[in-house]
Amino acid sequence: MYHNSMQIGNKFRIYPTPEQQQILLRWIGCQRFIYNAKVGEDRYFRRFHRKSPALCGEPIPRDQQYAHFITEQTAFLREVPAVVLRNGAYRWRQAYQRFFSGACQGRPKIKSRKGRQSVLLTRELFELAPHEDGIRLAVGSKKFPLGEIPVRAHRPVEKTPASIILSVESGQWHLSFAVEDGAPEQTEAQIAAELQRLGEETLLQAARGIDRGVAIPAAVCDGSRFDFSPIQKKRLTGAERHRKRWQKIAARREKGSRRRTKAHQRAARYALYEARVRSDMAHKASRALVDDLQARLFVFEDLRTKNMTRSAKGTVDKPGRNVRQKAGLNRAILHSAWGRIHQFTRYKARRMGKLAIVVPPHHSSQECRLCGFTSPGNRLTQAEFACQRCGHAENADFNAAGVVKFRGVRLLLAGEIEFKAPRRSGIRKQLGPERSEVTPGEKVSAVREPTPRAPSSRNRETPTTTPAGV
Ligand SMILES: [Zn+2]
Repeated sequence: MYHNSMQIGNKFRIYPTPEQQQILLRWIGCQRFIYNAKVGEDRYFRRFHRKSPALCGEPIPRDQQYAHFITEQTAFLREVPAVVLRNGAYRWRQAYQRFFSGACQGRPKIKSRKGRQSVLLTRELFELAPHEDGIRLAVGSKKFPLGEIPVRAHRPVEKTPASIILSVESGQWHLSFAVEDGAPEQTEAQIAAELQRLGEETLLQAARGIDRGVAIPAAVCDGSRFDFSPIQKKRLTGAERHRKRWQKIAARREKGSRRRTKAHQRAARYALYEARVRSDMAHKASRALVDDLQARLFVFEDLRTKNMTRSAKGTVDKPGRNVRQKAGLNRAILHSAWGRIHQFTRYKARRMGKLAIVVPPHHSSQECRLCGFTSPGNRLTQAEFACQRCGHAENADFNAAGVVKFRGVRLLLAGEIEFKAPRRSGIRKQLGPERSEVTPGEKVSAVREPTPRAPSSRNRETPTTTPAGV
């Protein structure tokens, strides 16, 4: 049986000095420049292909060459290590391979100067080693030394990665990298096959249904619930208010002005804070879910098709009272937290040989979890559920969680749950013909052939000689 080793992602806060930041920002800018130049070049070639039918059949170059972008006008590129530039071309190619493998929707796009910025560094440019109290990170080469950058390591690291990413967002810097944990990893389909063999009764005991709603962000069928702490709620609402205020201020300020940029940065910092609190809640909830020793199957409803208007707003006939008060947290905040709870549970579960699945949510709020009787009348109020046939009464969210659990077990045993291979961001194998090209006459080839580009004597390396494991 074929096993993949699991990639474990790490992200740590780092504190570069202002001088180090300046150098890193230059590296980031130059890497982005090469990436964007590759995007532009590729667009040019594809347009060229469409306009010249005679050339159809000729492959478009999709290599990692970048030296031809260094000209007199772009002499600034010489002021950074060549590896930084090469990694820009490498990242572009990785993005292209993700597109071909179907892991992402579109071809690589121009990277903007706004928002999160990052630079990919390979071993030539960094040293990362475990240390008594954390991690020692040294960046730079002999010619371009940066020195050590303090890392706040909130967990130990045992392996050194082949490459790292240094990123900055709203003035805060992070180090991120992935390492293989070496343990064999089962695919979701393999875990599902194991669970199917347990049989219905055992599986029902090992299954947990999770209902995500407005009143309780995550209600589990065994009666436990996950929510933001009161202090988190207070801070989230505060951060949201501040963010909106600064967004409005930014909109009023003159375009392109320093003051407008400043206001945008303030807003972005609050947005980042909100994202972190949501992430924190989702991590804690998913950790608690998968750590439950009895639980092996987690069933979520498909949020894309779930009718979320039912909660605080009530129905059209029975509008909820004190809607504002009941809603509590903004819908957008909740929505993002819901998505993360599922996403985190899914990968954490898989690491432990457990499984998280998604089922259609239709009428899960109106169905009785004991007898299966489904009627809108079962739902007395927003929070109360009372079955009109068997009299089962319970909090509506926990009832729905139970319904979702039964649904998940039934569908899994019937073999009606589909498993897609997890989308990997790093590419290990040579790209295959998974996705056929859209543009006629365009071909992808691993082996480079003569191209419409001006011939050159540049040393052409094969595409796979670049770093792995990003
Ligand atoms: Zn009933």
